[in-house]
Amino acid sequence: MKKSFAKYFSALAMLLIVFQFSACSNRTETANQSAKPMEKNDKTEPANQPAKPPEKKDQTYRSVRGGVIAIVSSDELEIREHGENIVCKYTEKDNKLRVVVSALGTTRAMYFNITPNGLVGEQGEIYYDPSNKDAERAAMAATTMPSCQNNLRQISGTKDQYALDHNNKGPSSFSDLVPIYLKKTPVCPAGGTYIIGPLGHDAQCTIAGHTI
Ligand SMILES: [Zn+2]
Repeated sequence: MKKSFAKYFSALAMLLIVFQFSACSNRTETANQSAKPMEKNDKTEPANQPAKPPEKKDQTYRSVRGGVIAIVSSDELEIREHGENIVCKYTEKDNKLRVVVSALGTTRAMYFNITPNGLVGEQGEIYYDPSNKDAERAAMAATTMPSCQNNLRQISGTKDQYALDHNNKGPSSFSDLVPIYLKKTPVCPAGGTYIIGPLGHDAQCTIAGHTI
């Protein structure tokens, strides 16, 4: 009895191994199959591709806060920020830039996503292409958004406070709010104009993308 069981199990084990092998080879086949169309797509693109790397060389990106990333060669770039100038090695892969920063005795890697508007760092910091005005506007709006949003929340909140003290009538201008409800007139960091608006509605900024 024991022997036949052993035989049965070894046969089963063999079967399982064969199944696994066939499953593996199936998987690699399907992987190859799905990879093939990609290769084909790559082959249709070379018309556009060779132009890309030379374009990137000598490309300069700027941040709203005054930082600069200048691509100086196919593997070196310069980061200029806070009066410092650091030369870094970089590699580009899958629309990501990996930058090795050696400064103050430490080495670390920084990653940037390459987007149509420029380079976007891990903390969301944007380095835009200065020749692209739309990218500059988008970077400006995105970078200044959080502090403008704070202002909008503050203005909206004081409208209700003002109404409580004034027979449910909202403020008509900042002179109604300053200095009692707001210490001073809030200023949009991107130069937008604030619209206090009617009660029950959020205050607005004229910069596109600056909303509560
Ligand atoms: Zn604003």
